[in-house]
Amino acid sequence: MSFTIDDLPVRDELRGKSPYGAPQLDVPVRLNTNENPYPLPEPLVERIAERVREAARHLNRYPDRDAVELRTQLAKYLTDTTGHPLRTENVWAANGSNEVIQQLLQTFGGPGRTAMGFEPSYSMHSLIARGTGTRWLSCPRTEDFTVDPGVMRDFVLEHRPDVVFLTTPNNPTGNAVEPDFVLRLLEVMRQAGPSMLVLDEAYAEFSHGESALPLLERFPNYVVSRTMSKAFGAAGLRLGYLAAHPAVVDAVQLVRLPYHLSAVTQATALAALEYTDTLLGYVEQLKTERDRLVDELRGMGFDVTPSDANFVQFGRFADPHEAWRRLLDQGVLVRDNGVPGRLRVSAGTPAENDAFLAAARELKSLAVPAAPTTTKEQSA
Ligand code: PMP
Repeated sequence: MSFTIDDLPVRDELRGKSPYGAPQLDVPVRLNTNENPYPLPEPLVERIAERVREAARHLNRYPDRDAVELRTQLAKYLTDTTGHPLRTENVWAANGSNEVIQQLLQTFGGPGRTAMGFEPSYSMHSLIARGTGTRWLSCPRTEDFTVDPGVMRDFVLEHRPDVVFLTTPNNPTGNAVEPDFVLRLLEVMRQAGPSMLVLDEAYAEFSHGESALPLLERFPNYVVSRTMSKAFGAAGLRLGYLAAHPAVVDAVQLVRLPYHLSAVTQATALAALEYTDTLLGYVEQLKTERDRLVDELRGMGFDVTPSDANFVQFGRFADPHEAWRRLLDQGVLVRDNGVPGRLRVSAGTPAENDAFLAAARELKSLAVPAAPTTTKEQSA
């Protein structure tokens, strides 16, 4: 007898849905999940081993439930890099920023509540909303993937969402908003009633501009979400964190699982933070490579969205999936996020980017001036 997921009493809103995930294909040039292409430097690998060895001596005990040392070092990192003073009490950490987002929706969303985002954007916001029983509202971006301030204002005042997500730099489009826009949004939200803004800054370190993090000073209903998956080159570590008013950190404690962050994770993240300067050096190289991708793709005649992230959105293609497949035939894996007419490529090493650019040159015949439509999919 065949028994499938459809025979199980899963929640109605999960029926017929697919799990999230980009294809993990074994090809020579993988530029599809916005990872950092540089492995951690060897001295850091040694330091991780040292710290984890020490942590292993105490694995019979539960880890520090409040991850105090790690949160202190993350607060120091944010203070040093944004100039905005933060203390341990302002910071909370979890297993990737996906878990941070989940904890925030468990705390501030849930059945009978709504969350919204400016789409296309990071699809896990809506998927985690669904997983937590939060109703999702999608406010469309403009043709050039920016957020129109008037549309933003009308949408927030009409729907009065409980949680607002804004991703900057935005995934998958790559463009960013100015801190001024975040301020306007917070002011509109204040007018609309009690609500939380989650600013997803997963790619902040790659940005040309300033972070809107210092607005934390003025708005206790404002949360900035960050990750060590991108700038710190540690996607495998699973470490995300947030900065907010200490009351937000207190609120999240109500839903977090006890001992959610393993001692091994905490030790590894602390080791990586000791190497911040070295790792941020790689970020500078990636920014240069990202700018090169933008310039060269534009030079080939593609329509390229400005990028403040470690990836670039380009097009337009009548059939983006066909363009995606042709790149794959050349051993280059990029991402088809389902944005009409576009593909997304992560900045890799100079050699990987050369390989991608050579393959992209062959796609010029597929590029078209007008935006066609395809179905909506996911972004990682
Ligand atoms: N936010 C955005 C905008 C992302 O693109 C990603 C990763 N693709 C995440 C959050 C999640 O990152 P992680 O869980 O690895 O911290």
